[in-house]
Amino acid sequence: MEAVLETAMSQFHRAADRIRLGDDMRELLTSFKTVYQTEFPVDLDSGRAKVFSGYRVHHNAARGPVKGGIRYSPMVSLDEVKALAMWMTWKCAVVNVPFGGAKGGVICDPASMSARELQDLTRRFTSEIGPIIGPDRDIPAPDMGTNPQTMAWIMDTYSMEAGYTIPGIVTGKPVAIGGSEGRFEATGRGLLYVLQEHLATSGGVRDRTVSVQGFGNVGGVAAKLLTEAGATVTHVSDADIGLRNVEGIDAPAAFAHIGAGGTLKSWHEQNRGAAEEVGHDDILEADVDVLVPAAIEGVLTGENADRVRANLIIEGANGPTTPEADQIFADRGVTLLPDTLANAGGVTVSYFEWVQARQYLHWSEEQVNAELRRLMVNAYHSVTTRCGSADEGCTFREAAQWIGVERVIEAIELRGIFP
Ligand code: NAD
Repeated sequence: MEAVLETAMSQFHRAADRIRLGDDMRELLTSFKTVYQTEFPVDLDSGRAKVFSGYRVHHNAARGPVKGGIRYSPMVSLDEVKALAMWMTWKCAVVNVPFGGAKGGVICDPASMSARELQDLTRRFTSEIGPIIGPDRDIPAPDMGTNPQTMAWIMDTYSMEAGYTIPGIVTGKPVAIGGSEGRFEATGRGLLYVLQEHLATSGGVRDRTVSVQGFGNVGGVAAKLLTEAGATVTHVSDADIGLRNVEGIDAPAAFAHIGAGGTLKSWHEQNRGAAEEVGHDDILEADVDVLVPAAIEGVLTGENADRVRANLIIEGANGPTTPEADQIFADRGVTLLPDTLANAGGVTVSYFEWVQARQYLHWSEEQVNAELRRLMVNAYHSVTTRCGSADEGCTFREAAQWIGVERVIEAIELRGIFP
């Protein structure tokens, strides 16, 4: 089993042990309702027809239609997609939106593909997974390597095959075709709301120093919003480059540069003096108040957890911390706000988008952000309250995992097992 799936399973069993979950329910909750694998050809610009592998996995649908992103990356594997689908189940339950967990992915390198190739790949993959997705069944969304444009192509392909427009098939669409105001920033904004709530009684986020790994939809937006909220973002990175400026990096400007088609590297090259280049380890081990891993899984491990200097970690990425690192952080008294809570803003506003699509309504950005804050703050307090009521003490990850597991079990028990 690949490390990332081992992490997801280990987190689940740890919570299951604490609530003394029986073997039958453990077996049910570690199984996957639907595992769909496809290999399909795409005509490349070179004239070659290349075969790509893709996956769509449904973990558990007891609480509602399943929901989860589609990832384009050379690192996609079936085990990774399974782990991400399982985390989606718990995450939807923690923020209490009526969805189960799903995830999908295609093994490809989107950075090296043309827009035409990506469009063809997306349309063909949508057609391949057509039988198991649907606005009442499984609603995809963006993840690493995919974006609102990808969602527009999925919506169009699914709609063309049905013969009419079905905006509820995906979330994270451009606003012009039924996307929600605020969805693009939702994950980073939700992370900010959780952090603000956590620090509300100890001075807030203003003037806290922050290091952010990953500068995409989650990390880039989080760095921008944290800066706008008064924090000093001293470190940022993407897959190519790490940057440091202890006086603060102009994250909004860097993110705007990327929005206009640039990269973090080209922003650095055009703004020499705005930051100095540092290694990837320096981002995770920076001497800051808050660390935001917002790129990929498994970056905080038993090997480097002792060198992490931040006293507060808030997970923007899914699964950035291995169980060994979790234990080290708990032993060292480092507080960790887990992914299933901290990055749930994306699926929360995806839920709002789906509701709007089903009702042909359009909410204002103020309404979206106010509802997002309400759900994130509620989720934060259910996690901290659960922690406070645990006999032997617990981490926020354990508390979030318990809440997720318990809510899914409640749904399974109420519905019963068919037939
Ligand atoms: P993205 O593709 O928009 O951005 C990913 C960023 O990480 C890019 O800047 C990329 O260069 C960087 N990166 C990749 N490998 C790296 C490495 N080894 N070191 C440093 N940086 C690296 O993806 P995203 O949507 O921001 O997703 C990031 C993470 O957040 C993933 O774990 C994803 O599952 C999770 N997540 C995303 C959303 C969402 O709404 N997009 C919601 C919840 C969780």
